[in-house]
Amino acid sequence: MILKLYQAGEPVLRQQARLLSLEELRSEEVQLLISCMRETMRDAPGVGLAAPQVGYSLALAVIEDRPEYLAAQPQRDITERGRSPVPFQVLVNPRLTVLDPTPQSFFEGCLSVSGFTALVPRASAVRVEAWNERGEEISIEAKGWPARILQHELDHLRGTLYLDRMEPRSFSSQQNHLRYWRAKTLAELRAELSLED
Ligand code: ZN
Repeated sequence: MILKLYQAGEPVLRQQARLLSLEELRSEEVQLLISCMRETMRDAPGVGLAAPQVGYSLALAVIEDRPEYLAAQPQRDITERGRSPVPFQVLVNPRLTVLDPTPQSFFEGCLSVSGFTALVPRASAVRVEAWNERGEEISIEAKGWPARILQHELDHLRGTLYLDRMEPRSFSSQQNHLRYWRAKTLAELRAELSLED
């Protein structure tokens, strides 16, 4: 079932999501929620989805960056962003550790801020420890784009949106992004937007 994507302004997107117990995680209800979140993320399509985005204030997110999504992107973008395929993964009660805090800024979007994009600085490398959908401990170390996806989704579980972290002058509709900014290098763009390096 495709779930409704809650948009910025919905109170649930600003709440601290609560942790799940093992028992809750294994319940039919939460297992169904996970499968609906996967379907909703793929339908959007998106590379991650957190439970608050579909109206549940639970510390639960799914991520996936499929090879076919990458195939649709220019090679320059993939290289520049350090983008690589991410298998479907369920993150329950995740904890984030920053491994390399060096900030990297790239355009980021969010299914809950539909139709917009902005430059968002993120740490270069992170580790996330969580339970998977069966309640088994997993640990993921990621850098580049996959590290960005993890930071974005875990932010949702704390009631944080990329809007809180973005470089405000870079905020743009997707349409204008394609029209004016997409073809430019980051250096050109920073100069034109009068952004600090
Ligand atoms: Zn988001």
